[in-house]
Amino acid sequence: MRYISTRGSAPALDFEGVTLAGLASDGGLYLPEEWPRFTEAEIADMAGLTYVELAVRVMAPFTAGSLTEDELRALCTSAYGRFSHAAVTPLTQFDQQHWLLELFHGPTLAFKDVALQLLGRLFEHFLSKRDDHLTIVGATSGDTGSAAIDAVAGREGVDIFMLHPHGRVSDVQRRQMTTVRAPNVHNIAIEGSFDDAQATVKRMFTDGDMNGRFHIAAVNSINWARLMAQVVYYFAAALQLGAPQRKVAFSVPTGNFGDVFAGYVAAQMGLPIERLIVATNVNDILHRALSSGDYSTGSVTPTAAPSMDIQVSSNFERLLFCEGGRDGLALAEQMRSFEASKAMQLTNSQREGAAKLFTSARADADQMASAMAWASQHCGEIIDPHTAIGLHAAREADLAPDIPVVTLATAHPAKFRDAVERATGTRPALPARVGDLFEREEAYTTLPGTYDAVRDYVAEHGTAVA
Ligand SMILES: *Cc1c(COP(=O)(O)O)cnc(C)c1O
Repeated sequence: MRYISTRGSAPALDFEGVTLAGLASDGGLYLPEEWPRFTEAEIADMAGLTYVELAVRVMAPFTAGSLTEDELRALCTSAYGRFSHAAVTPLTQFDQQHWLLELFHGPTLAFKDVALQLLGRLFEHFLSKRDDHLTIVGATSGDTGSAAIDAVAGREGVDIFMLHPHGRVSDVQRRQMTTVRAPNVHNIAIEGSFDDAQATVKRMFTDGDMNGRFHIAAVNSINWARLMAQVVYYFAAALQLGAPQRKVAFSVPTGNFGDVFAGYVAAQMGLPIERLIVATNVNDILHRALSSGDYSTGSVTPTAAPSMDIQVSSNFERLLFCEGGRDGLALAEQMRSFEASKAMQLTNSQREGAAKLFTSARADADQMASAMAWASQHCGEIIDPHTAIGLHAAREADLAPDIPVVTLATAHPAKFRDAVERATGTRPALPARVGDLFEREEAYTTLPGTYDAVRDYVAEHGTAVA
């Protein structure tokens, strides 16, 4: 499989190349040159497979040429063996029409584990083959940091330096990062805000000297391999609800547009999806873009669903490319103007193309709390604030009653205990597998929020390649 950039001028790469590259050299995002497509019979034939076997069927067309099917199977078996539920992503029922796809059974209790557990193993596999080394540098305000650290801890060929704002992440989130003890894991608490940490990381990516000495890499959701791994659970859920004979809708709590774009990919591969509902909180740039074509940023409002407190959704560019005639040079122009003015209008073809599959909805704090209370009182299900935004959007969507609607549960409620307790009166317990989180020893280094301090630390503790 060959991959091309959404901005039309970076070289095409194979799967191994895009996995290690992250962003394309022209600033664009990589996508398969064309979508692999399953026939209805091939999809019907997937019913009843284990999660790992389904993952191999769905991902094999994307990894062809870079991994044998046996290599892919071995990586999936290892990655999904870390999940605490035998079904990996089990489906549970709310009521006659509404379902919940539990994506939080991985080691750090958020759906990001589904993709990152595989990505950590892909890095190790490709790097050992090339005898190469990566230095991952990231900034986190919560979920991504812990999932990325868990995914690469102890793996060959990778070091990870994860910056978090000192004193500004929750105890659970900090401990999920700082209690992972492996020689290749470096937690750094920055004296400053998340934005300061983020600015330091961005600067390191453009520091020629650092990039020459270390292969600096990112693990954010622009990485194609992450999206690819997320396509699998759309197939898993739809097959259980009667696909390919029956159409299914999905409601997805959305931040960077990665998770819901994986649903779009599943549809392009032939999975009969009736609707993809993009659920946002009050940080609603995607809702405005999809409902009125207005993609313009505002300032971020902090909410109880922090992983969706985002103003620019990087993966949206992939949809704009696919629905805008796949014209990389035109999109590069559109994105340059967006980056300059922080605002753009979608073209007619982008709007009409997106409207064929996507709808959107926005939930404020009261609607989010009501959805948590409804799930608790009527279905005995305790859900987290992100999932509640998805459920709110799902119940508003007004789809025909014979269409099952699956809400993606993106985090375990115990990750956001205070908000859940306020809305439902129930304080969710941490699952047994992380139950000793507060007894484990922490390790992190506190640094001033300056670029030089972080650069010197990475240079001293990292693994140079040149
Ligand atoms: C990251 C995250 C999201 C948003 O996912 P995107 O792929 O960025 O749209 C939603 N909920 C939770 C709990 C997350 O951690």
